[in-house]
Amino acid sequence: MTGISDSFLRPINYLRVSVTDRCNLRCVYCMPEEGVPWMARSNILTYEELSSIIRASVELGISKIRITGGEPLVRTGIADFIKMIDQIPGVEEIAMTTNGILLSRYAADIKKAGLRRVNVSMDTLKPEKFKKICRGVDSGGDIARVIEGIQAAREAGLNPVKINMVVMAGINDDEILDFASKTLDEEWHVRFIELMPFTGHDGSTPTGLTTRELKQRIDPLGHMVPFKHQWGNGPAKYYKLPGARGTIGFISALSEHFCFNCNRIRLTADGKLRPCLMSENMIDLREPLRGGMAAEQLKELIQKAVSAKPKGHLLGEGHKPNDRPFCQVGG
Ligand code: SAM
Ligand code: SF4
Repeated sequence: MTGISDSFLRPINYLRVSVTDRCNLRCVYCMPEEGVPWMARSNILTYEELSSIIRASVELGISKIRITGGEPLVRTGIADFIKMIDQIPGVEEIAMTTNGILLSRYAADIKKAGLRRVNVSMDTLKPEKFKKICRGVDSGGDIARVIEGIQAAREAGLNPVKINMVVMAGINDDEILDFASKTLDEEWHVRFIELMPFTGHDGSTPTGLTTRELKQRIDPLGHMVPFKHQWGNGPAKYYKLPGARGTIGFISALSEHFCFNCNRIRLTADGKLRPCLMSENMIDLREPLRGGMAAEQLKELIQKAVSAKPKGHLLGEGHKPNDRPFCQVGG
């Protein structure tokens, strides 16, 4: 399968599926401290409904699925859901993005169910700062649990485990070198993410750093060389420091945007297909699905969403999506 193409002839083969808007953390760049009103449970798609949409997408040419949220591991039965989608003919790869708090509990089960890889979000290596950035909530914001989760994921054979760090000036930018150094002696795959403006987080959200600034900060560790990898075909550009065992990736949504290569669409937990993360435009699949829509018509709607992908986002021109917080989009 080669994937469906959008109106700009970009092949679309990647679906990000948000299984919940709920989360056990409240990261400063993602949600306000008091949280956001959760979606009504009846509005959230069942695993069977999610599977029907995934099946229809795969029949159109989607082959890679990433499970995200909110926090995907807080939804009960996630390993069974992974097993369900692993059995859909044409699904070549299932991956997950998680905050890692519950990962040590589930790593072995989700691997056994068919998950191939995991990205773990961790913005600091310091316990107190971790609590400040993600504001623990029900999990207590214990970084030790994330570290244990990363370890458990490696032991379970989820490979590679990538670490996502959103870099914020004056908050965690003093740790850029610590994270980059982790790739030298250990097989850490660190990805520095440019902070994106999104509705729903605190008004006090700090500013991000550009990839250019990040590279300058890492320069004292040596000259990075581009690294060709086999992992998916996402937006990150990868490099290696001299002699490093791990890699350093940059996701530069703002400063070097990658829209011309975009290969993805997103399904929200309440059943909206979102052609672009940074545009409010969405096509509802839940009501047609619950109304008994046939698979062929469902495919037509998915195709319509793919055709509606804009050429690029308009963040540079000051437009940011204002409809939903990140956790309700499936970032
Ligand atoms: N809860 C899971 C997690 O944190 O990994 C999955 C959902 S989270 C919305 C997905 C990714 O989006 C995380 O890596 C997170 O750091 C990133 N993210 C959230 N808000 C962001 C923002 N404003 N700018 C850049 N990345 C953001
Ligand atoms: Fe939760 Fe992930 Fe958002 Fe943090 S980034 S609040 S962990 S959904």
